Amino acid sequence: MKGPARRAEGFTESVIREMTRLCQANNAINLAQGFPDFDPPARVKQSAIKAINSGYNQYSITRGSPELRQAISRKVKRFNHFKCNPESEVTVTCGTTEGMISTLLALLNPGDEVVIPEPFYENYGPDTILSGAKCRYVKLAPPEFEIEEESLKNVFSRKTKAIIVNTPHNPTGRVFRREELKIIRDLCQDYDAFAITDEIYEHIIYDGLSHTSIASLDGMGERTITISGFSKTYSATGWRVGYVIARKELSSAIRKVHDFLTVCAPTPLQEACLSALKLPESYYKSLRATYDESRGLLLKVLEEAGFKCFKPEGAYYIWTDIRSTGFRNDRKLAEMLIKRIGVGSVPGSSFFHNPSTGRLTLRFSFSKMPQTIRIAAERLRRFRRL
Ligand code: GLN
Repeated sequence: MKGPARRAEGFTESVIREMTRLCQANNAINLAQGFPDFDPPARVKQSAIKAINSGYNQYSITRGSPELRQAISRKVKRFNHFKCNPESEVTVTCGTTEGMISTLLALLNPGDEVVIPEPFYENYGPDTILSGAKCRYVKLAPPEFEIEEESLKNVFSRKTKAIIVNTPHNPTGRVFRREELKIIRDLCQDYDAFAITDEIYEHIIYDGLSHTSIASLDGMGERTITISGFSKTYSATGWRVGYVIARKELSSAIRKVHDFLTVCAPTPLQEACLSALKLPESYYKSLRATYDESRGLLLKVLEEAGFKCFKPEGAYYIWTDIRSTGFRNDRKLAEMLIKRIGVGSVPGSSFFHNPSTGRLTLRFSFSKMPQTIRIAAERLRRFRRL
């Protein structure tokens, strides 16, 4: 009998989603998949309900509602410090996830190479493979997880079509500095490569640091594809609304792929995202304060439980080294924590192309209210006593 296509054999199922299923089956607190246990702001939810009741229920124009694209363009100018034309350069997608795969499908040819700093969010590998290109990994070394010029130079070549720049970074929590982004810019210019970004955690940053979009650096506007979305900033991961910003010619290609993949992002939720973009500065401050508190709580209990933690500068994950817990296998430890302790995490191996590289690491998410983290902390205290 005929079976599935070879292209789907090049990668495995998502480990993050697998851990979520395991958490559900075992009633564990899900610190595996990064999503909040609280709702979007009330007025944003009300806008969604109002939109559904006001007839926003059919397809929207495939590239996204004109008002939302205009609002995104204003936000990007104010917050990300670069300009884009809402008519020709902004595309609203079904989440950043679709934005990323539509971009890669639209820009990559077989034989092209994509540079991916490693560890990396698991989608980038399959996205690149599905696009027919090859991944070239470059190590972000602990404890700083910095972009290192020498290592990056070693993986760039004439075949390099793009580099994926995820900042704030999942899973390490690193926020790349302007100087590091300039190293990437110089290589992109030398090798005529694109920077494809994932800036979904752009508002979730701690300790007074700030987010830099590589598109805002001199000379990068035309060779950057900026991808972000509403999921994490507005606690609406199930709404699936994101966007891609790229110069006109690239946007035309991305829009074609997006149209044939999904037609459009959910129409009433695009309306609600418009109201999200009108939230005052205090909203972002309070979101950061909530996550900052959860970060502190989880860091403390994980360290007490024997994990070596890398303090995140942004996003909502704590990357840990499990060596001092006595465990030697990330997957076994993750399963044990879910089944016996009641707390979910993600085996670190799923963030590496060669799983053995991550055997001694585990990722915990603190994308939850401080009270949820406190309950998880109670449970994790039992781990030490085992
Ligand atoms: N980005 C989140 C994570 O890394 C959620 C991923 C997903 O399941 N789409 O956990």
